[in-house]
Amino acid sequence: MDVFSHLASYDYGEVHFARDPATGMRAIVAIHDTRLGPSLGGCRFLGYSRDEDALIDALRLARGMTYKAALAGVPHGGGKSVVLRPPAPVFDRAALFLAFGRFVDSLGGRYITAEDSGTGLEDMELIRTATKHVTGVGAEHGGSGDPSPFTALGVRRGIEACAKLKLGRTSLEGLTVAVQGVGHVGYHLCKELVACGAKLSVADVDPLKSERAHREFGAEIVPNESIFDVECDVLAPCALGSAINDDTVPRIKAKIVAGAANNQLHEPRHGDDLNARGILYAPDYAINAGGLINVAQEVAGYDAEISRDRTMKIFDTIHEIAERSMKSLTPTYRVADLLVEEKLARAGGVPSRIASAR
Ligand code: NAD
Repeated sequence: MDVFSHLASYDYGEVHFARDPATGMRAIVAIHDTRLGPSLGGCRFLGYSRDEDALIDALRLARGMTYKAALAGVPHGGGKSVVLRPPAPVFDRAALFLAFGRFVDSLGGRYITAEDSGTGLEDMELIRTATKHVTGVGAEHGGSGDPSPFTALGVRRGIEACAKLKLGRTSLEGLTVAVQGVGHVGYHLCKELVACGAKLSVADVDPLKSERAHREFGAEIVPNESIFDVECDVLAPCALGSAINDDTVPRIKAKIVAGAANNQLHEPRHGDDLNARGILYAPDYAINAGGLINVAQEVAGYDAEISRDRTMKIFDTIHEIAERSMKSLTPTYRVADLLVEEKLARAGGVPSRIASAR
């Protein structure tokens, strides 16, 4: 594996590797940028067929966290970690995460960890016994619990901003929204939208999830393969990444694409394609930052009201991006990137301490 060329292509100064023979723990912590504060980002616990894939995952995700935190005004840089799931069917999960906690601690607070795919509250509680640089712990330890309701609140605020600019609507009353994926965030988003008077269509590969949305919110259930063809005002991708691709862009009937999923654009050029079709796209890392805002509040001393107030401001962020995009005829995903790059440049310095001469 050509490690340094990967670091160069994702613009990195600092990546840490750890191996603990006693527990079998093998982990990577990628610290992309600490100009705005210590890096913050979740810990994935997944099996990777190649070590290189684990490294690329960490590099890609930590870089995304830098952009998300900067745009959300959260005083943190971008970081992410990966604990490689052992191939053996039996392993001591507690020992593994304790070792990972010691690894995080050894970085002296330059990386703060949190939940991500494959990890949960119990893992964070274990890590907490080895380091204070962890979020997503239980409320009894100053934690903030499930971030999804905050993410959903932010997405609703982003949809409101888009509806105002694109459709001239000051309320979501009567707006039609198609939601792809009604899991953690999608479910809470439906709740937010219905409370504002919107009408929903939903699709989920898990029929129990779409039936729940039908039962609780009166949502119309749409076959998974048809959700991009629904006649609606807003399409909200809340499932996996790459929802916006060569196949789906021409099919979208909505004037707005605004949802929670990370990495919605299969490639950046799909953001150009949406723009060319006159569809307003709310950049994913701008609209889905509510969960991060909430977790970051945990570092400062958790207060749900402050988290809520800050998440409500996602309206302003999306409004600014959309307005700039319309004025400059630049696709929204590019406007968001430029806003972040300006912010980071204003912060001065270099992306990571190790990249500077000490
Ligand atoms: P989740 O796993 O709880 O929900 C995803 C849902 O999508 C599931 O119900 C799944 O069955 C469904 N799904 C998967 N593939 C589908 C498909 N092809 N068509 C229809 N439905 C499909 O995950 P989540 O926590 O709700 O996160 C949803 C998205 O939002 C993810 O991309 C995640 O990275 C992103 N996100 C989540 C948070 C958060 O606070 N949880 C924060 C920021 C971003």
